[in-house]
This record gives sequence, C-alpha cells and structure tokens, in this order.
Amino acid sequence: LARRSLAGLCAALLDLDSAAAGLVVADLDDLLPFLPGAARHALSAGAVAVDAASLLATGHRLHRLSSEQRERLLERLSRRTLTDGALDTIKIPIVFAYGAGAHGVGKIARPDHPPVRPDADLDVVPSTEFRQRAVADAVVIGSGAGGAIAARALARAGLSVVILEEGRRHSVEEFRERPALARFGALYRDGGSTVALGSPPVILPLGRGVGGTTLVNSGTCYRTPEKVLARWREVHGVEMADSERFGSLLDEIERTLEVAPVPLSIMGNNGLLTLRGAEKLGWSAHPIRRNAPGCRGCSQCAVGCPENAKFGVHLSVLPAACAAGAVIVSEARVERILHGGGRATGVRAARRGGGTIEILADLIFVAAGATETPPLLRRSGLGDHPHIGRNLAVHPAVSVGGWFDEPVRASQGVLQSAGIDELHASDGLLMEATSAPGGIGSMVLPGLGRRLAAQLEKIEHLATLGAMVGDEPSGSVHGWEGRPVIRYRLSRGDGAKLIKAIGAMGRVMFAAGATEVATGIRGHDTVGSEKELEAATAAARVERLHIAAFHPTGTVRMGSEATTHPVDPVGRLRGVDGVYVVDASIVPSCPEVNPQLTIMAFAEGVTANALAAN
Ligand SMILES: Cc1cc2nc3c(=O)[nH]c(=O)nc-3n(C[C@H](O)[C@H](O)[C@H](O)COP(=O)(O)OP(=O)(O)OC[C@H]3O[C@@H](n4cnc5c(N)ncnc54)[C@H](O)[C@@H]3O)c2cc1C
Repeated sequence: LARRSLAGLCAALLDLDSAAAGLVVADLDDLLPFLPGAARHALSAGAVAVDAASLLATGHRLHRLSSEQRERLLERLSRRTLTDGALDTIKIPIVFAYGAGAHGVGKIARPDHPPVRPDADLDVVPSTEFRQRAVADAVVIGSGAGGAIAARALARAGLSVVILEEGRRHSVEEFRERPALARFGALYRDGGSTVALGSPPVILPLGRGVGGTTLVNSGTCYRTPEKVLARWREVHGVEMADSERFGSLLDEIERTLEVAPVPLSIMGNNGLLTLRGAEKLGWSAHPIRRNAPGCRGCSQCAVGCPENAKFGVHLSVLPAACAAGAVIVSEARVERILHGGGRATGVRAARRGGGTIEILADLIFVAAGATETPPLLRRSGLGDHPHIGRNLAVHPAVSVGGWFDEPVRASQGVLQSAGIDELHASDGLLMEATSAPGGIGSMVLPGLGRRLAAQLEKIEHLATLGAMVGDEPSGSVHGWEGRPVIRYRLSRGDGAKLIKAIGAMGRVMFAAGATEVATGIRGHDTVGSEKELEAATAAARVERLHIAAFHPTGTVRMGSEATTHPVDPVGRLRGVDGVYVVDASIVPSCPEVNPQLTIMAFAEGVTANALAAN
C-alpha cells in the first residue's frame, strides 16, 4: 500500500509518469534502510495520507489522477500549515532520489581518470575481528577531525593507541562506483536524517565512518577569527586561545592538510558568478582555502570524494597515526567509559552483530562529536555536570538559488568555492558559494508538480549560495541511551540575521546577472527583482525558513569557570582523571567560521597538554 502511495506521490511531486515514478521509488531503496524506523514510517504514513486525501477529494487514488488534478490537490494541501510542513519534509528525500539515485537525472558522473591518490595505508580492524579484551596506553573514541589529530600525537609520542570508530571504512572505489544517493545513506549517521527539533526544525547532517565528518565535509578551511579567540580568552578563560599559541597550532594543522586557495581554473561557474556578484557590489570576497590538494572539481565532496583529492583525516592524519602504531577498530560503538576511584580505567564498546570489546587504558580521548559525546558521558556515569549537553551552537545556514541565462553546471567545479566576508565582522555572517550536482542541491527548489519539474529541467542554469550565522548557544542534546534528542531554539537576533543573509545573497545573485532568485522563504519562494527580494525578506517569518546546520559545537565546553564549563582549560573532563575531550564539543562558542581547523587545533593543543601531564 505504502509503495503504491509513494509512487503516486513521487509522480505528483515531480510530474512524472508511473514508470519514471517507479524508478524514483526503487532508488529510494538505497536510502531508506539507513533512516531510523520513525523517519521511514513517517515517509510511508505521509504518502498514504496524501493518497487518502486524494481518495476523499476526488474518489480516486493519486496515481489515477491527471497532472492537473494531482497538482491541484498538492497545492490545496500546501496551503494548510500542517500539511505544508509535512509535504516540504517528504519532498526532500524524493527530490534527492530523483536527482542523485541510480537512475537520477543529476548528472553525477564517475570520474574518467584514476584517483589523485590511492586509499591510505591504514591499520583498520573491523570490530568482529578484534579480540574481546585488550590493553592500551590510550583509547581514542571517534576517528573524525578531533580524534584523528589526538591519535596521531599520542602514537607519535610512543603510546600504544586504539581508535574506536562506530562507522566503517569506506574506499575510493565505492565512491566511484556507487550512486551518490547510496553513498549518502552509508556515510551519514541515520542516513543524514538528524534533525534538531524546534521551530523551524534544523536539518543537522553528521558523518559516520573512519574519518568522521571529514569524509563528507566540503574541505573549506578557515582559521579561527581573532575576535573569536579573544572572546574565548576573555569570557571563557581559555588560555590556549592565545593568538600566538593557537596560531601555531593552526599553522601545524594547515601544513598537515595542505590547505590552499581554490584555483580559479577548477572553481566552476557557481563560484565565479559569486565572485562576479560580490565584485559588482564592491563586497569583499575570495576563493575559499581548502584541504584538497589535486582537486579537479567534481562537486561531490558531500558524498565521499571519488578522486581521493579532498584531504580528510582518513587520508591526511590517520595514516601518520597508524604508521606510528595506532590501530583503528571500526564498527565499534563505545557504550561506556569505564572508571573507578575517580580515574578512567578503559572503555566498553559494542561490536557489530553483537558482543562487546573491552579495552583497558588509563587515558581516554573522547572525540565522538558534539551530539554524541554528551550522551556517551552520561551513560558512562560521567555526565553529572549541569552544562553537559547544553550550550549547543550549530552555525545555522540558509541558502538561495539563482537562475542564469548562461549555464552554471554545478557538477563541474568545486562544491564550496568562493566566500564573501563583507558582513562577517559586522553580523557574524559568512556567505559561501556552495553548489552540488543536481539532486543533492535541488532540495532548495520551491514548488510542486509541473512547477518543480520545470525548475529541475533548467537545473544546469542554477547557482546556489549559502550563508551561515555565528549563533548564540541556543540548543541542547538530551538523552544517553539510543538516539540523542537534539533541540535548538533559534534566537530572535540570529533569525533576523538569517533573513538579512537571504537578502544579501539575493543581491549577489542579481548583481551577478541572475534572472530569478529562489529565496527559500515559504510563501515568497521566487523573486524576479531586487524590489521583490526586499518585499520577500520584509515579509519573511523565521518559522517558515528552511534551515540546515553543519557545525554543531559547544556541548561540553572548555573554560576556566568550573560551574559552567564541564572541561577545564587544558582539556580535562572535570570530575574524573584521565578523560580528555578533543572534539567539537569543547569549542567554547560558535567559531563563526567552518570549524574543522579550529577543532583540530584544539585537539592538538589538548593532546599536547595531556602528554605533558602524564
Ligand atoms: C556536509 C558537511 C559539510 C561540512 N563542511 C565543512 C567544511 O567544509 N569545513 C569545515 O571546517 N567543516 C565542515 N563541516 C564540519 C566538520 O567536518 C565537523 O565540524 C568536524 O568534522 C567535527 O569534528 P569532530 O571530531 O567533532 O567529529 P566528527 O568528525 O563528526 O567525528 C566523530 C566520529 O565519532 C564517531 N562516533 C560517534 N559516537 C561514537 C561512539 N559512541 N563510539 C565510537 N565512535 C563514535 C562518529 O561515527 C564519527 O566518525 C561539515 C560538516 C558537514 C556535515
């Protein structure tokens, strides 16, 4: 029943015939198994509900209606607040499957030349093959940005190190062979369906695998701004944020990651148009600095680089950790940090397929990420500090699209390529040209039925620009067992800045020559002039925006004040000896730029402190 309803809904949403809609449903099978049961059921229930509404309104199920009839029905549903929100959510995986699935129309091509470099030589042992009990000098939980850096420093210092990673190892062959949608499902926690609850809800995708979120990130590298470092020193008492000390940590990370500006020759038209628009407005803009030596610009960073060019930690840092003796145990989810008498004694992890692994160690480095570290500490009996799980900042983002007469061809260029920092100092607002091949990026497109289909037809002429706002710590992570509940209540001030960002990005698009701009503001979704853009932003309500976020931080923040900061200024978790936190959770407040360099610099600094102290 649900499959038939889903096919009917795909046909209605995308104005497809039943054979083409069947292919979208078949492609969805690559994503659905990765979604949590509740999300799968919600999708099925939504499709059945729309089908039932069709039966009630017309006497026929959706797949029996003509294009015009089903469009009228969807439009009626989208005029009601409740069903509008639901339709908007259901649309995301369907448009994604249509563009990025095995039969997708999004032109996501397999590169026709060998990868820039082979997969790295890593010592990875799947948990099913690792012994039940082991002893190590140090255990690192999580192999992403923070965990990899900590593991490298520990192993280089001569310690025996085991890295436990919940996800599995991915290969470049897989990134070349498998459809983008299937890669997405496999690379993201819960198939990318993580959401921070609130009004509006915030989509918050998180990577999972050997390499953590650096497997799927865009490779953008910003150094921590001086004003942010000053805040961390002055408000949070973080001595490590000393400009010179932190600067040298950032230098070391930049060397490791081989950070360099995007060459204009591979940037692609999305970035070039952004630079053109900024120049016309007289705004400060630049090619983005990235860790992607050898990148040729295929715009697939978000689904695993098929060129092995993006220098995620699985290619840039973990090889050095393994060369120095570290072992990565994959598909091992740490359930508990073990401790006794006020000291860490080891960890217990669940093996894939059942059973546990216990590793005894005096030093534990927690790097499970800002949304997983708080629940891990709580279920370990180390979560008593009242600020664990609080102070979540997410660096909320909105995006706009612009249609150009000239082709943009998002799939030919760098996914995140040009930055505009004109409003960064004044409003903490950073704009970044962020394109993705059709299907991945087309989720921003407004409309239903023939209107949506017409936009997808001209997707090769669509440019996209995103903007993030340095936010107040407005969220929290609750729960300890199972899936954490993430809440985020966008502050009024940050909401106003997001609307300002939409206006600013729309202006860049028009200045660059866009004929029409998709604002992402429900109810005012497309505008044809600056005047209409102004009217749309003036009428915009924050609850009706589409917000995503990619940079959660601050949930176990570092600082000198013991009552408000669960981690002390050198990186030790308060209340227990031997536990250090080295991931995005310790970042004291939103870093106001893409955070990977900042997180890695903190991890490097904390691990150096730990080595000096032990
Ligand atoms: C789509 C996307 C694009 C991004 N682009 C950029 C960018 O261009 N530039 C930038 O600076 N930042 C970017 N980011 C953000 C950046 O990648 C992250 O902020 C950073 O990787 C976080 O580092 P971390 O160490 O805190 O966690 P992660 O890198 O997320 O690593 C955490 C790891 O811990 C594992 N784990 C979790 N729980 C457990 C457990 N219980 N047991 C064992 N393992 C566990 C997870 O599976 C994961 O692999 C992006 C993020 C996303 C989602």
